[in-house]
Formats: sequence, structure tokens, C-alpha cells
Amino acid sequence: RSKSAGRDCFTIYDEAMSAELEARNTLEGDLRDAIAQCQLEVHYQPFVDALSGARRGFEALVRWRHPTRGLIPPDQFIPLAEETGLIVPLGEFVLRRACADAAGWPSDLAVAVNLSPIQFKEAELFEMICAALADSGLPPQRLEIEITESVLLERGVENHAFMQRLKQLGIELALDDFGTGYSSLSYLTAFPFDKIKIDKSFIRNLTHQPRSSAIISAIVTLARGLDMSVTAEGVETREEFERLKALGVNFAQGYLFGRPQPIERILFDAPVKPSRRDAA
Ligand code: C2E
Ligand code: MG
Ligand code: MG
Ligand code: MG
Repeated sequence: RSKSAGRDCFTIYDEAMSAELEARNTLEGDLRDAIAQCQLEVHYQPFVDALSGARRGFEALVRWRHPTRGLIPPDQFIPLAEETGLIVPLGEFVLRRACADAAGWPSDLAVAVNLSPIQFKEAELFEMICAALADSGLPPQRLEIEITESVLLERGVENHAFMQRLKQLGIELALDDFGTGYSSLSYLTAFPFDKIKIDKSFIRNLTHQPRSSAIISAIVTLARGLDMSVTAEGVETREEFERLKALGVNFAQGYLFGRPQPIERILFDAPVKPSRRDAA
């Protein structure tokens, strides 16, 4: 009996596995089509100068408008895109779209784009970034590139050289999700970052937990010493924002200042030039 029960279990497990694999293959095929058929959208979330409250730019965040499943958030397809290599065309689409859109914004606004560790392995990444800037006409000083520290774990020497080339162009480099993962402090001195983005998990409970304040205060001190600026991510309440200002954070981003939105829904103070999308 136990033998057959064991076999049944194995069968069920096997079926569950293949169902999962099938779902994954379907999603992979769908994602391939999505890239080809322009179902991907780039939404923009503002970040502000903490002292003045003035808007300084927007982070580009990809979404997938699936024909039957609706709007899918990046957490549900970026990992698959990374596993399948589709992150390379996807990432190029986002960067080009973001540069083209930002080229039409008032010239004091920057655009921040997330790069995946997988893209870092592409030999043509530097040329692709240069082409995206040249084709859009966006000055490199208005582009920020956000990377997570997982990029830095491998190929440290090559990555350092690559980051140095981006900086020489005038592009700003931000270390995203700081405080999660390994967060080796040595990354901060080993790589040429301009900005640290403190992960939103430290901002949650900020107003209740004195320990979170201590960590943020330490990061701010560290960043100052290294001549870097600090952004707080995931700021949702006025109370959190006031606390972060007192702690000396330079920039803030979060639902308090605006959710990620399609470009059409963002209001600018100055007139907006049409991007190449409108021309096409
Ligand atoms: P991230 O780069 O750390 O982006 C910030 C995430 O926090 C976004 O989630 C944003 O919508 C969310 N967020 C912003 N303010 C708040 C807030 O006040 N409260 C809360 N609870 N959340 C807030 P989103 O858009 O779902 O993106 C998730 C992650 O997906 C991003 O994290 C980034 O790692 C990745 N991602 C998004 N777009 C791209 C892309 O074009 N390329 C790559 N490689 N990764 C991307
Ligand atoms: Mg980011
Ligand atoms: Mg800048
Ligand atoms: Mg983040």
C-alpha cells in the first residue's frame, strides 16, 4: 500500500511539475510575443529633492499589458526574462523608450532606468546605451542607471571598468535596494556609485522603530563621507518623509509623491516636446 501511495505521490508531483513547466513555457512564449508586439509599457514614478520638495526626475518601471491577463507587474516576468535571456531585448526597449520620453521633458528632469545583472554580461551593452542616448538626443547627464549589488558579485574588474566608462559619459550610477541581500560595505568604495537607494523595507516602520532610524542615519553619514547622495524608496506617508528629511536623506521616492504612471498621465510645468513615439 505504502509503495503504491508513494508512486501516486510521485505521479502527482510529476504532473504538477509538468503543469508548472507548461505554464512557464506559455508565459515565455507570451513574453516573446509581448516584446515583438509592443505590449510592454514604461511607467514613470517621480522622485523629489527632500529639502525643496521639487521634482528631480522619474524612475522608469516596466509593465506588461497582457492581452488576457491585464497589466502584469515586473516581479512576475523579470525573473523569467532573466532566465530566458529575453531581458536583453526587453531592457533595450525600456532604455530606448525612457530616453526618448525623457528627451521631451523639461531639461531639469532626469530619468532613472534599472539594468539587470544579465544585461551586464552583454558585450554590446555600452554601445547600446550610447545608441539610445544618441538616437533620443537625451544628454547623458540626465540618465541615471540603477543596479543592484548582485551585479557586483561576479566579474568585479570588468564591471568596474564598465561603470567607469558610463561615468565618463556623464551618466549617474545608483546602487538600488541598498540594505537587502549581501550589502557589503566594500562595494561602496570599490565601485563608482553616485547614489545609494535605501530599500523600502527600511522606510516601513520607520516612524515606530528607532532601529530603522539608526540604520538610515548611518547610511547617510557613510554616503556623505564617500561623496554620494541618498534616496529613500517607498516613502508613503508625510510622517515618514519628515523623519527622513531630519535624518538627512537627499531624495525621496514613493506613493506619497506619486505612483508609477503612464507617461500620458504625468503633468509637467513646462511644455513637453513630443517623443519619437508620437512622431512614428
Ligand atoms: P525597484 O527598482 O526597486 O523599483 C521600486 C519599486 O517600488 C517599484 O515596483 C515601485 O512601484 C515600488 N514602489 C514605489 N514607491 C512605493 C511605495 O511608496 N510603497 C511601495 N510598497 N512600493 C513602492 P515595481 O514597479 O513593481 O518594480 C519592481 C522591481 O522590478 C523594481 O524594483 C526593479 O527591480 C524591477 N524592474 C522594474 N522595471 C524594470 C526594468 O525595466 N528592468 C529591470 N531589469 N528591472 C525592472
Ligand atoms: Mg530601481
Ligand atoms: Mg544627473
Ligand atoms: Mg529598489
